[in-house]
Amino acid sequence: MRLIIFGQQASGKGTQAEKITEHYGIPHISTGDIFRENISKGTELGKLAKEILDRGELVPDEITNKIIEERLSRDDCSKGFILDGYPRNRNQAEFLDNLPYQIDAVINLEVSQQELIKRISSRRVCVNCKTNYNLIYIKPKQEGMCNKCGGKLIIRDDDKPEAIKKRLAIYHEQTEPLLKFYEEKGILKNINGEQPMEAVSNDIIKALEE
Ligand code: AMP
Repeated sequence: MRLIIFGQQASGKGTQAEKITEHYGIPHISTGDIFRENISKGTELGKLAKEILDRGELVPDEITNKIIEERLSRDDCSKGFILDGYPRNRNQAEFLDNLPYQIDAVINLEVSQQELIKRISSRRVCVNCKTNYNLIYIKPKQEGMCNKCGGKLIIRDDDKPEAIKKRLAIYHEQTEPLLKFYEEKGILKNINGEQPMEAVSNDIIKALEE
């Protein structure tokens, strides 16, 4: 099963992609995770991506497209994959369309702006082990401190207000129009993302098996 999951920052996209990975045994491919991994390893790609990510802007398409082409050609993608964070604009969608993989379904998690801003502003990450927290849903046992390693909890650079504003604007301008592209292909599945996590997962699986 070859899938794409769409949803704005904090829509629960990463969590749901993980659930789908477990359910169907297909790899979860997140371009954001690939960039963050490269940043923490200090690779050439990481050095280039760091400032772009911190500003909430997009990594150039030539780089991102090449990464995806290489990643999808690996053996673990032979039975399918779920793409998270890619494609993000028309150019990337057309590039993917020209690769030899037919996409079976596109999941779109719908969450209101108000709820998204509430979720984003409550996100924290551990400076040491990078565990994610949410002051509303996944609270640390002790305020400001990581449950696992005792590290300090901070706001991610790309969750700071200026970066959030930029990311939400880019999503509306460049990513949202792609939903129409996939709707016209008849493979778009809109899912209510403003429900408890389990209910969202159940709705996704139901929609995929319709
Ligand atoms: P995400 O975790 O998907 O929100 O991605 C974090 C950041 O990585 C984004 O704000 C972009 O700077 C970069 N990024 C992730 N995916 C892409 C993509 N498909 N094209 C360009 N930049 C991306």
